[in-house]
Amino acid sequence: MSAENINGLHHVTAICSDPQRNYDFYTGTLGLRLVKKTVNFDDPSAYHLYYADGAGTPGSVLTFFPWPGAPRGSDGSGQIGATAFATNEAGLAHWQKRLADKQIELRGPLQRFDDIYIEFDDPDGMKLEIVAANPAAAIFKPWSQSPVPEAMQLRGFHSVTLCESGYELTQALLTQQMGWRLLKESGGRFRYQAPGAGPASVVDVLCQPEARHAGSGAGTVHHVAFRVVDDAAQREWRKALVGFGYNLSPVKDRTYFHSIYYREPGGILFEIATDSPGFSVDEAPAELGSSLVLPRQFEPMRREIEKSLPPLATASR
Ligand code: ZN
Repeated sequence: MSAENINGLHHVTAICSDPQRNYDFYTGTLGLRLVKKTVNFDDPSAYHLYYADGAGTPGSVLTFFPWPGAPRGSDGSGQIGATAFATNEAGLAHWQKRLADKQIELRGPLQRFDDIYIEFDDPDGMKLEIVAANPAAAIFKPWSQSPVPEAMQLRGFHSVTLCESGYELTQALLTQQMGWRLLKESGGRFRYQAPGAGPASVVDVLCQPEARHAGSGAGTVHHVAFRVVDDAAQREWRKALVGFGYNLSPVKDRTYFHSIYYREPGGILFEIATDSPGFSVDEAPAELGSSLVLPRQFEPMRREIEKSLPPLATASR
């Protein structure tokens, strides 16, 4: 195992259909900040949109590949079943009212382990939760231009839930190989936490042996990324995971972080991403998300790329 820990969640990447509807929901309804508007590095005819707290802090970053017209995915095992954001206790009542006012159907408040939470779907049917976690994690920065009052804003992720047909092999990966620990277990749900128990450091595995295998598509999560501090830690973890028999991608430069990918035993795509260099590498902190940013290799094709992208009106600061 590496000397440096895998510290928690870095980002979650999902698939949506209409980019405008996605933008309006995550910035207008959920009050997140668009911290980067770029293209899919593997397919520059599609956007890659990054939403986060006010500073683009790892552990708060939800990203989307919008594919207009993409068919809806299906729920099941081998998939992230829910992505949960954190708020403080007063925040939860605010969110209940805010979502109800916007005619968003929500379930709850419900209780799971010691947490009170609500659940609802995004416009593509992606399962979201807001969990009251007190106090709000100080590493996450409010967004001054959010329509949500600062004190109530979502403060990073609380957790993700992995839906699996079995839990043992994924548990072995998380605990024996990635250095997390089993916190609690109840009714087929197993909760794991990163060393240090910092913010956005929880993963649940929901064991569903009867469920059919999930199908990817709009409204489903593409992968979940975990955080390491730097490239050296990532190299060590890559070596360790290869030693445990996993197939690892080479290191990929995602401009804002460096990434390695591997599939966990239940079939969900995992990534380990570095905290640095971060979203300010190609835009000033105050300008994040205010214009279309392209990686260097696509800059010469900017005109063609801009023409091929679907229309998307975002607030320019
Ligand atoms: Zn990723």
